[in-house]
Amino acid sequence: MTQHDPNQAETDADVVVIGGGFAGVVAARDLSRAGVDVLLLEARDRLGGRTWHRDSPLGRPLELGGTFVHWLQPHVWAEMTAHGLELEPSPGVDEVYWIMGGRVHQASVEEYSALVEPGMAGLTDGARDAFPMPHRLFPMTESARAADVLSITDRLAQLGLDADRTEVARSRWTLSFNGSPEEGSWAQALRLTALCGGDWTMVSEANRAYTVAGGTGRLLDAVHSGSTARIRLSTLVTDVRQDEDNVRVLTADGETITARHAVVTLPINALTTIAFDPPLSHGKRAAAERGQVSTGFKVWMRARGRITPFIAFAPDDCPLTMAGTEYEQDGDTILLGFGPDAAKLDLHDVAAVESALHQWRPDIELIATDGHDWTADPLSGETWCMPRPGHLSREIAELQRPEGRVRLAGGDYADGWAGYIDGALESGRRAAHRLLNETDLLRKDDTPC
Ligand SMILES: Cc1cc2nc3c(=O)[nH]c(=O)nc-3n(C[C@H](O)[C@H](O)[C@H](O)COP(=O)(O)OP(=O)(O)OC[C@H]3O[C@@H](n4cnc5c(N)ncnc54)[C@H](O)[C@@H]3O)c2cc1C
Repeated sequence: MTQHDPNQAETDADVVVIGGGFAGVVAARDLSRAGVDVLLLEARDRLGGRTWHRDSPLGRPLELGGTFVHWLQPHVWAEMTAHGLELEPSPGVDEVYWIMGGRVHQASVEEYSALVEPGMAGLTDGARDAFPMPHRLFPMTESARAADVLSITDRLAQLGLDADRTEVARSRWTLSFNGSPEEGSWAQALRLTALCGGDWTMVSEANRAYTVAGGTGRLLDAVHSGSTARIRLSTLVTDVRQDEDNVRVLTADGETITARHAVVTLPINALTTIAFDPPLSHGKRAAAERGQVSTGFKVWMRARGRITPFIAFAPDDCPLTMAGTEYEQDGDTILLGFGPDAAKLDLHDVAAVESALHQWRPDIELIATDGHDWTADPLSGETWCMPRPGHLSREIAELQRPEGRVRLAGGDYADGWAGYIDGALESGRRAAHRLLNETDLLRKDDTPC
């Protein structure tokens, strides 16, 4: 029950959490477990945000958003262990297709790996020196700052590789950034590799090798368990106003909710959809207006018949830059694909997606597709957060800095696995911890009523 300071206006909650993705759900859980009265407001009619495991017209439940997890991700792994969740290995592949020099090539995984290795290793060399403690960004090393000035393509050009090796590496980083490698910071490649002990192959493994058995919904339920936070779905927040004593949150249906503190978990590319009064700092607004790189898509495809397991990569000017087999479904095959520009492909236009897939495999006939356009969705505006040059060295510290009674949290603002479920858990937990330890939240109990 909320206990009110008699000097303050009546509040509806101690803390209002805006957004019910992993960051909001874990922040609400940690705060409510500590005895804080929490109200979580979520615009969608479900929790989970950019993770969404649901039944699909393709014939089986599918992950439309965040999917892959790994034991190298400490916050995910702690929840998996605490709740007895298991990993499900992704299916392997027998052959690789890639487009290089305008032609389709096909080879074994080993042959393709040898081709891509120089660009991947060259780009991630020095990762551990740049980010010696990758779960703590600050103080940032000089080499990380220097890397944050360059884009992925700037750095690839410096490596002096031949055109083929440059092209295949560029294509792989396009997949990792889900956007243009010209816009992605080289420092992010180093940071991810440092999180994987300096081994870029483990970044690839973390990005693709394991899913949560039963779906990310099970992980979300696990994180949410034990929470006593009140949850309100289908509640779009439009304004966040604060004064010395309280935060007032206005919703699209005209309600005003008063709380002592607010945790705002909107992705960077959606942050400008809320009006803050007083406005967020100049630095935060500039970062939100510049946005981050990942504005691509993820698409599921059902193809007729059984297909030998494969994975395929293409340059970033193609609509589909990666596709691969995932599941067998009643004699058909379900494939997964990604592209760097959501504006270039309508995920629900089966003929258009099939035509994009035909760049590698003109023999495949698609029956149906499924996906969610997170980039066009105003509640996300992006897929997974990947930084532009300058973000890590100039923007992130300011985004993490609380402003009065309002603080940002979310996968986009994490120190470690930013852009991942793990980063959302880290950032949400940190926001709760800091509210409990650095504010008057718990001290209110000392006030005589
Ligand atoms: C296609 C795709 C693939 C991905 N793949 C992976 C992967 O394999 N592995 C991995 O670890 N991560 C992956 N990610 C990233 C991962 O899903 C996210 O980093 C993580 O889920 C972010 O959690 P969050 O709580 O910070 O933000 P979100 O999940 O975006 O939560 C923010 C919440 O705020 C709500 N909201 C927005 N505006 C308002 C408003 N005005 N009022 C009220 N509520 C509002 C939103 O509806 C949302 O629920 C992927 C993401 C996408 C989209």
